[in-house]
Amino acid sequence: MSIQEVELVIIGSGPAGYTAAVYAARAGLAPVVLAGSVTAGGALMTTTEVENFPGFVDGVQGPELMESMRAQAERFGARILLDDAVAVDLAGPVKTVRTGSGDTYLARAVILAMGSAYRKIGLADEERLTGHGVSWCATCDGFFFRDQEIVVVGGGDSAMEEALFLTRFASKVTVVHRRDTFRASQIMAQRVLEHPKIDVAWNSEVAGILGTDKVEAVTLRDTVSGAERELSVTGVFVAIGHDPRSELVAGSVDTDADGYVRVVHPSTRTTLDGVFAAGDLVDHTYRQAITAAGTGCAAAQDAQHYLAALT
Ligand code: FAD
Repeated sequence: MSIQEVELVIIGSGPAGYTAAVYAARAGLAPVVLAGSVTAGGALMTTTEVENFPGFVDGVQGPELMESMRAQAERFGARILLDDAVAVDLAGPVKTVRTGSGDTYLARAVILAMGSAYRKIGLADEERLTGHGVSWCATCDGFFFRDQEIVVVGGGDSAMEEALFLTRFASKVTVVHRRDTFRASQIMAQRVLEHPKIDVAWNSEVAGILGTDKVEAVTLRDTVSGAERELSVTGVFVAIGHDPRSELVAGSVDTDADGYVRVVHPSTRTTLDGVFAAGDLVDHTYRQAITAAGTGCAAAQDAQHYLAALT
């Protein structure tokens, strides 16, 4: 257990946190990155091929990309710790960040980059087959499902968007929804209902995801009768929402109704001086590795300018 004074603490280790670390370290700020004790590297550690991160002609494995970002940040002097931020006091000029292993950092600036978590259906096979047919991101993975039959799980606007986008690749998209009407806006629902490549499995839930190494079928359960049937598909896109990991700072920085940290666009400044936020923790819309990295870069520069103005 120690108490250390530092210039900058970065909380989170996805593309946003690591990119902020690269920039801050190169600016001589020697940032401390609390990368998380269990999930260091962020969301891309759970995926396989990433084909849309610029610079990799043949794509790159998610964990490999994140390991490279970590090593790049360390090369310039970032201290990356496999530890969680468990309590913060961000209000004054000196920010206190306490970690799971009992250390305390007194920092003049903090970057929040804790990401967000996709809501899961809650099946063991969903975890096992993530990156092997189970996906949370049509923009990321739709391309892999050319001429294949897939399901999209959900009934809100994002499920409608994912389903419509996936018709560019898939031969057939079945939207699986627990109720008999969509929650989505009328115009989005209408587009889905009228699309020749989309079917809807009403009053249905995914009760099982089948396949040894990759998705081969799903078991659909009727939410009214309980009857089960199997549907052959190679892809399952889960679009039932996502939750920003902002509990740590709830009540200290301003968040919107969904819990996303608010920043003063186009900067990464939060409502507290010296506290910046980046990546999916802030972003309802784009939610890509490159956009998270981009705002991580911006956060490091904002923090650097803030710190420079203090001296
Ligand atoms: P994250 O990557 O979520 O990282 C945040 C990190 O902070 C996590 O490790 C978390 O555990 C940690 N953390 C949270 N709280 C604390 C705390 N209190 N203390 C310490 N650490 C903490 N995007 C693409 O561009 N291309 C793709 O092909 C692609 N594929 C994807 C596949 C999957 C399966 C998933 C889930 C996402 C995919 N994405 C893809 C989206 C992309 O991964 C995210 O947009 C991106 O990772 C967001 O980066 P981030 O840094 O904001 O947060």
